[in-house]
Amino acid sequence: MSDTPNREEGNISIHTENIFPIIKKWLYSDKDIFLRELVSNAVDAIHRLQNINLIEGLKLADEYKVDIHIDKERRTLTVTDNGIGMTADEIRKYINQVAFSSAEDFIEKFKDLEDKNQIIGHFGLGFYSTFMVADKVEIRTLSYRDASIAAHWECAGNTSYQLSETDKKERGTEIILHLNDTEKEFLDAVNVREVLKKFCNFLPVSICLEGEEVNDKNPLWTRSSSEITDDEYKEFYRKLYPMSDDPLFWIHLNIDFPFNLKGIIYFPRLHNEFDVTKSHIKLFCNQVFVSDNTPELIPEFLTPLQGCLDAPDLPLNVSRSYLQNEPQVRKIREVISGRVAAKIVELAKKDRAAFEPIWEDIHTFVKYGMMREDKFYDKVKDQVIYRSTGEEKYTTLPDYLERAREEHENKVYYANDEGVQATYLKMFKAQGMEALILDSMIDNHFIQFLESKNTDLKFGRVDSDVTENLIEQDVSSNIVDKDNKSREDRIEESFKSALDIKGLTIRIETLKDDSVPGMILLNEQQRRFKEMTQMMGQGEMPDLFAEHTLLVNTASPAVDKVLKLQDDGNKETAGLLIEQIYDLAMLSHQAISKERMAGFLERSGKLLGMI
Ligand code: ADP
Repeated sequence: MSDTPNREEGNISIHTENIFPIIKKWLYSDKDIFLRELVSNAVDAIHRLQNINLIEGLKLADEYKVDIHIDKERRTLTVTDNGIGMTADEIRKYINQVAFSSAEDFIEKFKDLEDKNQIIGHFGLGFYSTFMVADKVEIRTLSYRDASIAAHWECAGNTSYQLSETDKKERGTEIILHLNDTEKEFLDAVNVREVLKKFCNFLPVSICLEGEEVNDKNPLWTRSSSEITDDEYKEFYRKLYPMSDDPLFWIHLNIDFPFNLKGIIYFPRLHNEFDVTKSHIKLFCNQVFVSDNTPELIPEFLTPLQGCLDAPDLPLNVSRSYLQNEPQVRKIREVISGRVAAKIVELAKKDRAAFEPIWEDIHTFVKYGMMREDKFYDKVKDQVIYRSTGEEKYTTLPDYLERAREEHENKVYYANDEGVQATYLKMFKAQGMEALILDSMIDNHFIQFLESKNTDLKFGRVDSDVTENLIEQDVSSNIVDKDNKSREDRIEESFKSALDIKGLTIRIETLKDDSVPGMILLNEQQRRFKEMTQMMGQGEMPDLFAEHTLLVNTASPAVDKVLKLQDDGNKETAGLLIEQIYDLAMLSHQAISKERMAGFLERSGKLLGMI
């Protein structure tokens, strides 16, 4: 480096007295980004040269690349490119003036800015972020335009700079950082490599650290989906998220209008309904990594999605407040929501058998999305499938309603716990009736939502009521048989007098199924209301059984036995039997109280002894 004597000295800007302490102090938390800024500038310089080559038909470099070199002895880190380079005039214009033209503004505003990242982007301090880690920075550069005189610029972290000629022979720019004493990590290639991997992993130009290329220049999202195999998509996913299971499916975005957006969105396999441990979508800007914490980019209900988005129209230094207010970000969200809806429709229509297992993984956020977004609801509503007790394992709602039209029009029967509601489901099955299984946390809300969307539609849990189809219509037993009372009245009386339980109503019916002596019915609306309160955790835990109905089945031999025992004057045993019938019904709901449990066990022993 033999600088010529015609050396220029000057001040960067009269307004900038305070800028260096601010850079050092305020940007300290995110030091790594200086490397991203330098490498991005280098790649930009190469792109600009490539464009000029294209326009002017020149051929200036065989191999474009950015080299990063560490010199431990001299304590320097150097970033070299063979891009467009700068003339001395360009240094004056782009480095000395432009960078600080808004310095006054900067000093005025910096104190109110919470997001330090925004400072760099907003004020174009990319290059000057180097002073976070360096005491002195040199630029040696040779412009493609003026290839005879190379320029050398030097600044020691204060407002004065020196600009002179130098003997650099190769076109391009070399930025030399003289790292300050506390910066050890950037003298270690392992650390520098890690930072490069984070920000520069997918840059389109070769990025070499000590001669070795670190990046993948053609990440999958830049290629055409028609030439990518499933295995490549999966492999790329593992590259982004090592140690993850294979994704369920993916969407390859390649949008040019009305804005530019490329990327691959993956649906990860979730381990439970609210698996929020997944890391999020990675945002890139022209293949430069920007952030993996930009929830604003995708609709909230799609938070579990993973993958990458390359949005070249967004600035490299996006801040949270920018993302929240930028109209283009809203459009990106809409596009993603639309594409996800389209993908779900495609999967559902293409291969139902393959869609069913996927559905179990995605139904929560599909349902949530439908509740959150009308447009999404409209697009996917006909594809929602429900597990069913019918012949097919899954059904759509329109198909279910069509089958049920004659027997219970617009009414959907469902179970939310196949174990607890087993008795009811068995009775449904015996009568050829079909119920849906809605047993996820979200289903409670979803049912409510569907009813509000379709006012004719009513959902009822299988234990909320007995349908006409389960009841024997032609009841010949209603004859008056004793003391001028019907058999029904006698049964009702005995149950009422034997069971002194708060909130209990007795209802007498003759069911087609005679195997169940009694069953508990819970009013659908009351129960739902209580469940909602329970879920929201407000106030005391509501007692779901504060009010309940015991349906007594006159067709059951056990109920018949009650009457016989009474006729034989054995009131006591009849009473035991009634209590037993009630407790069994509660037990099948797993709702028997601790107090009654002891009585139930004792009574069971007694009754067994009587057989
Ligand atoms: P920004 O990149 O946001 O414009 P910077 O402070 O990082 O802001 O850079 C200022 C300007 O300096 C760039 O716009 C570019 O004109 C010039 N520049 C920086 N680095 C290089 C480089 N490696 N090669 C050529 N020009 C560069």
